[in-house]
Amino acid sequence: MKLKILVDNQALPGFKAEWGFSCLVEATEKVLFDTGTSCDAIAFNAKKLGVEPESIEKLVLSHDHFDHTGGLDWVLQNPNVKVFALDSFSNETKQKIREKAVLVEVNKPVKISKGIFSTGKLSNSIDEQSLALETGKGVVVLTGCSHPGLEKILEKASEHGAVKAVVGGFHGFNKFDALKGIDFVAATHCTEHKGQIKKLFPNQFRECAAGAELNF
Ligand SMILES: [Zn+2]
Ligand SMILES: [Zn+2]
Repeated sequence: MKLKILVDNQALPGFKAEWGFSCLVEATEKVLFDTGTSCDAIAFNAKKLGVEPESIEKLVLSHDHFDHTGGLDWVLQNPNVKVFALDSFSNETKQKIREKAVLVEVNKPVKISKGIFSTGKLSNSIDEQSLALETGKGVVVLTGCSHPGLEKILEKASEHGAVKAVVGGFHGFNKFDALKGIDFVAATHCTEHKGQIKKLFPNQFRECAAGAELNF
């Protein structure tokens, strides 16, 4: 399974950075997770990585924040895309999706594609879904902002097997023990305690940026 980071706060040389997150999962199908803040960054970076919106079969939106839904129009150029958004998203966002594509409202854990699963709606003050990817190297967890708490997300995802990697925004996560046993920790986007995570897990920590390709 291959992950391509399309949008992140940091970017590899030649790619555009912006406050936001988007990652393409290439498995049996191409499943996009989040869209960044603008159509500009995702369009530019995707083109550089050889990704056309028409090639994306499914889109999963982690939560209804501008830095994850802002590039939606770029994806919706493909009228055949199936969009998995939480049932608690705003009517405005839902309507925008329905006008151009197929909307699937998510509440409970659900299979998105072969080996790709949503954790379902996890809540704190903000509702969010994350992805559990079943790869040859164990379960890879893909997060948006981790508003419900990364430890909660990891626990839910571990229903698919031992979590071996986590990629995405960790937000204010500070229950660092929850990362023990995870080989690959790519804390990025909105992660507040990146420095501390790097210090505690120097061999597991990976820098992440738009343009990066990860193989699992
Ligand atoms: Zn957020
Ligand atoms: Zn965010």
